[in-house]
Amino acid sequence: VDESYIMVKPDGVQRGFVGEIISRFERKGFKLKGLKLFQCSKELAEEHYKELKAKPFFPKLVDYITSGPVVCMAWEGVGVVASARKLIGSTDPLQAEPGTIRGDLAVQTGRNIIHGSDSPENGKREIGCGSTMALAC
Ligand code: ATP
Ligand code: MG
Repeated sequence: VDESYIMVKPDGVQRGFVGEIISRFERKGFKLKGLKLFQCSKELAEEHYKELKAKPFFPKLVDYITSGPVVCMAWEGVGVVASARKLIGSTDPLQAEPGTIRGDLAVQTGRNIIHGSDSPENGKREIGCGSTMALAC
C-alpha cells in the first residue's frame, strides 16, 4: 500500500488548520499511520527539500519551514500520493482550484501551508529513517 508524507507547514499550524487538514484526509478515506508536532532543524529541512537546493528561493524555503513547529503525518491508502496532491492543489495557491486545501486557505507560494510527497519513492524517503517523520530508527 502507498504512503504519503504530509506536513502542515508552520503557517498552517499557526493559523489553526491542523484539524481541518486531518479532516479532509480522513473524509477522503485515507488511514493515519503517524503524527507528531515537531520543530524542524535547518539540517533536516535542507535534507527534506534537497532536490530544490539549487533554486534561488531555497534559503527562504528553509527559513520558512523552520520558522515554527510543523505537524508531520504519514497517510496510507491506495493511490494516496497522487490523491493527496489533488487534495492539496497547485504549488501557487492563487492557481490552486477552489475546493483544494491551498485553493481554499492560502494565497502565497512561499506560505502555502502544506507539503505532500510528489512520488511514492519520495513518500518512502520522507517517512523513512533520517526524515523529519522518523529521525532515528
Ligand atoms: P511541497 O513539496 O512543499 O509539497 P510542491 O511539491 O507543490 O510543494 P515544490 O516545487 O516541491 O512544490 O516546492 C517546494 C516548496 O518550495 C513549495 O511548496 C513552496 O513552499 C516553495 N516554493 C516553490 N517555488 C517557489 C517560489 N517560486 N518562490 C518561493 N517559494 C517557492
Ligand atoms: Mg514538492
